[in-house]
Amino acid sequence: MSISENVKRYLDRIAEGNCFGEPVTLVAATKTRTPQEINEAIAAGITDIGENKVQEFRDKFDLVRGGRRHFIGHLQTNKIKYLIGKTDLIQSLDREELLTELAARSVRAGVTTDVLIEVNIGSELSKSGYPLREAFAAYERAQSTAGLRVRGFMAMLPLSEDAALLGGLADDMRALFERAVAQDENIRYLSMGMSGDWELCLGHGANMIRLGTALFGERTYS
Ligand SMILES: *Cc1c(COP(=O)(O)O)cnc(C)c1O
Repeated sequence: MSISENVKRYLDRIAEGNCFGEPVTLVAATKTRTPQEINEAIAAGITDIGENKVQEFRDKFDLVRGGRRHFIGHLQTNKIKYLIGKTDLIQSLDREELLTELAARSVRAGVTTDVLIEVNIGSELSKSGYPLREAFAAYERAQSTAGLRVRGFMAMLPLSEDAALLGGLADDMRALFERAVAQDENIRYLSMGMSGDWELCLGHGANMIRLGTALFGERTYS
């Protein structure tokens, strides 16, 4: 199937919303994809695109036409400067050093940077993000820091066949999200779900999913 057929099929599949009937935003995860492929996805209806390397974000920035721009990868503090003022949402606010630096640079540039707090929900050594027990405090800290506006939370579930385990972790994320929603109208997004687990995530209250392989096919890294 072509990229545009995939896009239409997935937009169709998420059209009825998540398990609470809330609208779902589909973010195309575009790492390794060419501007041409990304533009094909946008022409087919993709509204939001996410890169996870600063270099790729910069290289493709002017060649991609339209689309809200997300950054979804691990962000080194020495590369923040390349993103300031160019993102619609940085989904990977994963540590204090980044919180402080991103806020300071945003203030200096006179912009407010929209972010999601990334949570290492599976407590995996290979993944970044705040531990669940620290995530709410991190959100409150970021929200009260000039230069940042928190819009919600992001997580990547562990690779597992155990649907009960994954569902439990996804429920923990939804509970965190709802605790913040209850006190803060800026909170809108629970970004959780990739090509392998998006259905499970929508069944547990995610309202933003990030699909790469499902839309573009298998990645080859050169
Ligand atoms: C690559 C990537 C995705 C999409 O992964 P697929 O399994 O290809 O859908 C989602 N989120 C992040 C942060 C990614 O880096």
